[in-house]
Amino acid sequence: MIKLQNVEKVYRTSSIETLALNNINLDVKKGEFVSIMGPSGCGKSTLLNIMGLLDEPSKGIIEIGGTRVSSYRDKELAQLRNQKLGFIFQSFHLINDLSVLDNVEIPLLYRESSMKQRRELATEALEKVGLSNRMKHFPKQLSGGQKQRVAIARAIVGRPEIILADEPTGNLDSAMGNEILSILQNLNNDGTTIVMVTHDDAMAKKTHRLIRLFDGAQVL
Ligand code: ADP
Ligand code: ADP
Repeated sequence: MIKLQNVEKVYRTSSIETLALNNINLDVKKGEFVSIMGPSGCGKSTLLNIMGLLDEPSKGIIEIGGTRVSSYRDKELAQLRNQKLGFIFQSFHLINDLSVLDNVEIPLLYRESSMKQRRELATEALEKVGLSNRMKHFPKQLSGGQKQRVAIARAIVGRPEIILADEPTGNLDSAMGNEILSILQNLNNDGTTIVMVTHDDAMAKKTHRLIRLFDGAQVL
């Protein structure tokens, strides 16, 4: 489902070069739930961003859902990202002056869909995360766990095959963190492939496979 071959990422600023990823080879199968761990600065977010086509590798080959990505022009890349991938971040990234329902509809605005279809799909996604009683609320009226559930609803509203989650429980207490993990596990049981960056050993243990990074390289 996600294949990386000899992927390297170098960040260049005026005077410094940072090798953020060093020859990464990965094959995440359809239906897998994989976690990524490693110390701060080891390249976890860079790896997730490259898998999510948010950032371009300096070298290497990437395949998403059987499609080789390197030769894609920007527009096609955006389309692939929009069709196959859903993103969840540590700090939720909700838009504060939009209601919960409007936040969840955002990814659908890039598709051909009527207002009624958008409403139906967003309502369905909010039901899946147990928030159908908060549709008219605004983000600041929600607890942290509820905000993350809205972000998950937004990630799944377009029915992506893959969810990429960058420390989705990093800002939550452990009870709420476990709630979020069990929502992700339900999505995974329904067939969604998930890659999650985490600092939490107990969470990583509940996934199928752990990838450890150190200084931009995989540790076996
Ligand atoms: P992690 O998510 O594991 O904390 P990151 O992927 O954010 O690690 O960063 C990996 C390395 O790349 C770090 O050394 C970081 O300083 C560097 N880095 C990340 N983003 C940039 C950037 N935009 N420009 C320059 N260096 C960066
Ligand atoms: P938690 O204790 O779970 O962090 P809060 O105490 O922040 O949650 O909120 C409890 C409930 O009240 C939540 O379900 C939230 O949706 C609702 N709520 C919190 N603040 C507001 C508000 N300003 N307006 C409307 N509802 C709110």
